[in-house]
Amino acid sequence: MKKRFIYADHAATTPVSDAVLQEMLPYFQTHFGNPSSIYAKGRENERAIMDARARVAACLGAQPGEIFFTAGGSESDNWAIKGTAIQLAAQGKKHIITSVFEHHAVLHTCEFLEKQGFSVTYLPVSPEGLIDPADVEKAICEDTALVTIMYANNEIGTIQPIAEIGAICKAHGVLFHTDAVQAVGNVEIDVKAQNIDMLSLSGHKLHAPKGVGALYVRKGIRLPNLIHGGGQEMGRRAGTENVPGIIGLAKAMELATADIPGKIAKLTPLRNKIIDGILKIEQTRLNGDREHRLCGNVNISIVGVEGESLLLMLDNFGVAASSGSACTSGSLDPSHVLLSLGLKHEVAHGSLRLSFGEEFTEEDADYILSVIPQVVDRLRAMSPMWETIVKEGRKLV
Ligand SMILES: *Cc1c(COP(=O)(O)O)cnc(C)c1O
Repeated sequence: MKKRFIYADHAATTPVSDAVLQEMLPYFQTHFGNPSSIYAKGRENERAIMDARARVAACLGAQPGEIFFTAGGSESDNWAIKGTAIQLAAQGKKHIITSVFEHHAVLHTCEFLEKQGFSVTYLPVSPEGLIDPADVEKAICEDTALVTIMYANNEIGTIQPIAEIGAICKAHGVLFHTDAVQAVGNVEIDVKAQNIDMLSLSGHKLHAPKGVGALYVRKGIRLPNLIHGGGQEMGRRAGTENVPGIIGLAKAMELATADIPGKIAKLTPLRNKIIDGILKIEQTRLNGDREHRLCGNVNISIVGVEGESLLLMLDNFGVAASSGSACTSGSLDPSHVLLSLGLKHEVAHGSLRLSFGEEFTEEDADYILSVIPQVVDRLRAMSPMWETIVKEGRKLV
């Protein structure tokens, strides 16, 4: 097959789309005014931000006054968790419930709070990568301030039972935050119907630029500021607004949520074709539940190959993908997400994540399926570990 370039790492970041870029461009030069300024050039940007706030809110079933723009998913997570912790500690509630396989923006924030005297329950996940709402309910106690559970996992794409967890939190009077960075645009979200009190999202995962995001905070929750200073964002998040980014985020949200069923219908068969194709290779394993899964996520462990080598070889074939071994973060530890499923270290090390978006085609899927078996054959032929596994007849998955 002729070499192609396929960007299969949408879970890491996405390119800014043309429509988003065009909508942003005037805000760099023509409409450059500071939204806090009194003259027309400032006021028109204040109105543009108000409009963007309403547009983002409409995509989530929220009210405009419940949307706060931030610098991305990590800030939104930090704000929701630290803000709630500070607020409710004053009422003696110093317990937080989360899960073992959250994004580091959540996990490291919780670890920080543990050092400040908070207690954190890290719920386990099933071997399929799902959280049991009954476990959430059992973990709630009198001191619980917050439950924070991600909507969809960034590595294995599993979609959590968010509405059930929301209902449980509501029944117990506990605040519920969800990191929905991977879910927005892939799953229909209605924060009211799903009883979500706070929700984090990020622009660069849905074709808006890096460095812009939002936090939805249900009306009535008085989250203390994370960033103090000027009176921007209704006095709740200081700093001159990233006007182009905010406008881009609003456009990207509208486009991403315009036809979610259509996107799911298009990508699910391609995703399943890739999964089934790779699973034909011996000693491979799908990570994460197949049904409750993002339509653009494939995560498979391939015994006897090293994640890094796999990625480099795929790159030579023009396929940009990601792996479960966190060499990218400068450590050789396999991902905490894959380990949370109960995978052995050596299996987690040989994992491949492909994540793609709406422009992905059948030809792309076919190309990937023509390349991967060759790459796996070559890597296994060079691997002493694979030789031993074959000699001893061991089955690792
Ligand atoms: C990317 C990501 C984040 C971080 O978002 P940034 O905008 O890069 O800070 C947080 N949570 C999840 C699940 C993510 O995938």
